[in-house]
Amino acid sequence: MLCVACAANSYPLCHECEQSLSLASDRTLQLRGVQLSVIPVFAHRGAAARLVHNLKYRRSMAAARLLGSLMAERVPPGTDSLVPVPRVLARRIAYGIDQTGVLAEVVSSITGIPVRQALRAKPWARRSAGKNRSERPRTEFALILTPSHSPVLVDDVCTTGGTIAGAAIALGRSTASALVATSAGSMEQRTGGFQARGVA
Ligand SMILES: [Zn+2]
Repeated sequence: MLCVACAANSYPLCHECEQSLSLASDRTLQLRGVQLSVIPVFAHRGAAARLVHNLKYRRSMAAARLLGSLMAERVPPGTDSLVPVPRVLARRIAYGIDQTGVLAEVVSSITGIPVRQALRAKPWARRSAGKNRSERPRTEFALILTPSHSPVLVDDVCTTGGTIAGAAIALGRSTASALVATSAGSMEQRTGGFQARGVA
Protein backbone atom coordinates (compact mmCIF):
# COMPACT_ATOMS: atom_id res chain seq x y z
CA MET A 1 0.00 0.00 0.00
CA LEU A 2 1.20 3.46 -0.93
CA CYS A 3 1.30 6.79 0.87
CA VAL A 4 -2.09 8.41 0.29
CA ALA A 5 -0.50 11.83 -0.17
CA CYS A 6 2.61 11.22 -2.29
CA ALA A 7 2.40 7.56 -3.38
CA ALA A 8 5.68 6.60 -1.68
CA ASN A 9 5.79 3.00 -0.54
CA SER A 10 4.36 3.50 2.94
CA TYR A 11 0.74 3.41 4.12
CA PRO A 12 -1.30 5.40 4.99
CA LEU A 13 1.30 8.19 5.06
CA CYS A 14 5.06 8.05 4.61
CA HIS A 15 7.30 9.51 7.28
CA GLU A 16 8.01 12.67 5.28
CA CYS A 17 4.34 13.39 4.67
CA GLU A 18 3.48 12.72 8.28
CA GLN A 19 6.18 15.18 9.35
CA SER A 20 4.73 17.84 7.06
CA LEU A 21 1.32 17.79 8.75
CA SER A 22 0.42 20.49 11.21
CA LEU A 23 -2.84 20.75 13.07
CA ALA A 24 -4.75 23.98 12.60
CA SER A 25 -6.48 25.67 15.50
CA ASP A 26 -10.17 26.58 15.52
CA ARG A 27 -11.02 30.07 14.43
CA THR A 28 -13.96 32.40 14.70
CA LEU A 29 -14.59 34.53 11.64
CA GLN A 30 -17.07 37.34 11.32
CA LEU A 31 -18.04 37.43 7.66
CA ARG A 32 -21.01 38.75 5.74
CA GLY A 33 -23.02 39.12 8.92
CA VAL A 34 -22.34 35.54 9.99
CA GLN A 35 -20.34 34.44 12.99
CA LEU A 36 -18.53 31.40 11.76
CA SER A 37 -16.72 28.82 13.92
CA VAL A 38 -14.29 27.06 11.63
CA ILE A 39 -13.11 23.70 12.93
CA PRO A 40 -10.21 22.45 10.80
CA VAL A 41 -8.06 19.37 11.07
CA PHE A 42 -4.89 20.45 9.28
CA ALA A 43 -3.24 23.61 8.07
CA HIS A 44 -3.44 23.67 4.27
CA ARG A 45 0.14 22.83 3.37
CA GLY A 46 2.43 19.86 2.85
CA ALA A 47 0.78 16.47 2.77
CA ALA A 48 -2.56 17.86 3.97
CA ALA A 49 -2.82 20.02 0.86
CA ARG A 50 -1.85 17.01 -1.27
CA LEU A 51 -4.52 14.88 0.37
CA VAL A 52 -7.17 17.46 -0.47
CA HIS A 53 -5.81 17.71 -4.01
CA ASN A 54 -5.91 13.93 -4.42
CA LEU A 55 -9.48 13.86 -3.17
CA LYS A 56 -10.72 16.70 -5.40
CA TYR A 57 -8.86 16.07 -8.61
CA ARG A 58 -8.02 12.36 -8.46
CA ARG A 59 -11.11 11.10 -6.63
CA SER A 60 -8.95 9.44 -3.98
CA MET A 61 -11.27 7.61 -1.60
CA ALA A 62 -8.26 6.75 0.57
CA ALA A 63 -7.67 10.47 1.06
CA ALA A 64 -11.38 10.95 1.82
CA ARG A 65 -11.29 8.22 4.47
CA LEU A 66 -8.13 9.58 6.07
CA LEU A 67 -9.36 13.19 6.22
CA GLY A 68 -12.95 12.26 7.05
CA SER A 69 -11.97 10.00 9.95
CA LEU A 70 -9.99 12.84 11.53
CA MET A 71 -12.82 15.32 10.89
CA ALA A 72 -15.20 12.91 12.65
CA GLU A 73 -13.25 13.40 15.88
CA ARG A 74 -13.88 17.13 15.71
CA VAL A 75 -17.67 17.25 15.25
CA PRO A 76 -19.10 19.70 17.82
CA PRO A 77 -21.34 18.15 20.51
CA GLY A 78 -25.05 18.46 19.76
CA THR A 79 -24.63 18.35 15.98
CA ASP A 80 -27.74 16.79 14.43
CA SER A 81 -26.87 16.92 10.73
CA LEU A 82 -23.89 17.32 8.39
CA VAL A 83 -24.52 19.74 5.54
CA PRO A 84 -21.94 19.63 2.74
CA VAL A 85 -21.06 22.96 1.14
CA PRO A 86 -21.81 21.97 -2.46
CA ARG A 87 -19.67 22.59 -5.53
CA VAL A 88 -21.17 24.07 -8.67
CA LEU A 89 -22.39 21.37 -11.03
CA ALA A 90 -19.80 22.14 -13.71
CA ARG A 91 -16.96 21.34 -11.31
CA ARG A 92 -18.62 18.19 -10.04
CA ILE A 93 -18.92 17.00 -13.62
CA ALA A 94 -15.40 18.09 -14.60
CA TYR A 95 -13.75 16.23 -11.73
CA GLY A 96 -16.30 13.48 -11.26
CA ILE A 97 -16.57 13.96 -7.52
CA ASP A 98 -18.57 15.93 -4.99
CA GLN A 99 -15.77 16.02 -2.45
CA THR A 100 -17.64 17.74 0.35
CA GLY A 101 -20.44 15.18 0.09
CA VAL A 102 -17.89 12.37 0.17
CA LEU A 103 -16.19 13.80 3.28
CA ALA A 104 -19.56 14.25 4.98
CA GLU A 105 -20.46 10.61 4.23
CA VAL A 106 -17.21 9.42 5.82
CA VAL A 107 -17.87 11.54 8.93
CA SER A 108 -21.44 10.24 9.03
CA SER A 109 -20.34 6.61 8.77
CA ILE A 110 -18.18 7.07 11.88
CA THR A 111 -20.40 9.33 14.00
CA GLY A 112 -23.85 8.16 12.93
CA ILE A 113 -24.89 11.79 12.35
CA PRO A 114 -26.94 11.98 9.13
CA VAL A 115 -25.80 13.87 6.03
CA ARG A 116 -28.39 16.40 4.92
CA GLN A 117 -27.85 17.76 1.42
CA ALA A 118 -29.79 20.92 2.24
CA LEU A 119 -28.00 23.19 -0.20
CA ARG A 120 -27.56 23.32 -3.93
CA ALA A 121 -24.98 25.51 -5.63
CA LYS A 122 -26.56 27.83 -8.14
CA PRO A 123 -25.13 27.07 -11.57
CA TRP A 124 -24.65 30.72 -12.36
CA ALA A 125 -22.77 31.57 -9.17
CA ARG A 126 -19.52 33.40 -9.76
CA ARG A 127 -16.89 33.91 -7.14
CA SER A 128 -15.19 36.83 -8.83
CA ALA A 129 -14.60 39.92 -6.77
CA GLY A 130 -16.98 42.47 -8.22
CA LYS A 131 -17.46 45.89 -6.78
CA ASN A 132 -19.80 46.16 -3.81
CA ARG A 133 -18.95 42.54 -3.17
CA SER A 134 -18.76 43.04 0.55
CA GLU A 135 -21.85 45.22 0.71
CA ARG A 136 -24.53 42.77 -0.27
CA PRO A 137 -24.93 39.12 0.65
CA ARG A 138 -24.25 36.88 -2.31
CA THR A 139 -26.79 34.13 -2.77
CA GLU A 140 -24.68 31.45 -4.39
CA PHE A 141 -26.56 28.61 -2.70
CA ALA A 142 -30.21 27.63 -2.78
CA LEU A 143 -31.92 25.97 0.17
CA ILE A 144 -33.53 22.76 -1.04
CA LEU A 145 -34.28 21.03 2.28
CA THR A 146 -35.37 22.46 5.62
CA PRO A 147 -32.26 22.61 7.80
CA SER A 148 -32.14 20.65 11.05
CA HIS A 149 -31.88 22.39 14.41
CA SER A 150 -28.09 22.16 14.85
CA PRO A 151 -26.43 21.54 11.49
CA VAL A 152 -22.70 21.67 10.88
CA LEU A 153 -21.39 22.66 7.47
CA VAL A 154 -18.77 20.40 5.91
CA ASP A 155 -16.15 21.63 3.46
CA ASP A 156 -12.77 20.44 2.24
CA VAL A 157 -10.84 23.69 2.51
CA CYS A 158 -11.49 26.98 4.23
CA THR A 159 -9.62 29.87 2.64
CA THR A 160 -11.33 33.21 3.24
CA GLY A 161 -14.43 31.63 4.73
CA GLY A 162 -16.62 33.57 2.30
CA THR A 163 -18.06 30.49 0.61
CA ILE A 164 -18.87 28.85 3.92
CA ALA A 165 -20.49 32.07 5.15
CA GLY A 166 -22.61 32.05 1.97
CA ALA A 167 -23.75 28.53 2.81
CA ALA A 168 -24.64 29.61 6.36
CA ILE A 169 -26.66 32.52 4.96
CA ALA A 170 -28.56 30.12 2.68
CA LEU A 171 -29.33 27.99 5.74
CA GLY A 172 -30.77 31.13 7.36
CA ARG A 173 -28.19 31.24 10.14
CA SER A 174 -26.33 34.13 11.69
CA THR A 175 -24.04 31.76 13.60
CA ALA A 176 -22.71 28.55 12.14
CA SER A 177 -20.02 25.94 12.64
CA ALA A 178 -18.03 24.46 9.79
CA LEU A 179 -15.97 21.31 9.88
CA VAL A 180 -13.16 21.48 7.33
CA ALA A 181 -10.30 19.20 6.35
CA THR A 182 -7.79 22.00 5.97
CA SER A 183 -7.60 25.68 6.66
CA ALA A 184 -5.43 28.13 4.80
CA GLY A 185 -3.68 29.82 7.65
CA SER A 186 -3.02 33.15 9.12
CA MET A 187 -3.84 35.31 6.10
CA GLU A 188 -7.39 34.07 6.31
CA GLN A 189 -7.67 35.05 9.92
CA ARG A 190 -6.49 38.58 9.26
CA THR A 191 -8.81 38.95 6.27
CA GLY A 192 -11.78 37.59 8.19
CA GLY A 193 -11.25 39.84 11.15
CA PHE A 194 -10.77 42.84 8.95
CA GLN A 195 -13.85 42.23 6.78
CA ALA A 196 -15.98 41.41 9.77
CA ARG A 197 -16.11 44.89 11.13
CA GLY A 198 -17.06 46.32 7.78
CA VAL A 199 -19.74 43.83 6.84
CA ALA A 200 -21.60 42.89 9.98
ZN1 LIG B 1 4.09 10.54 1.40
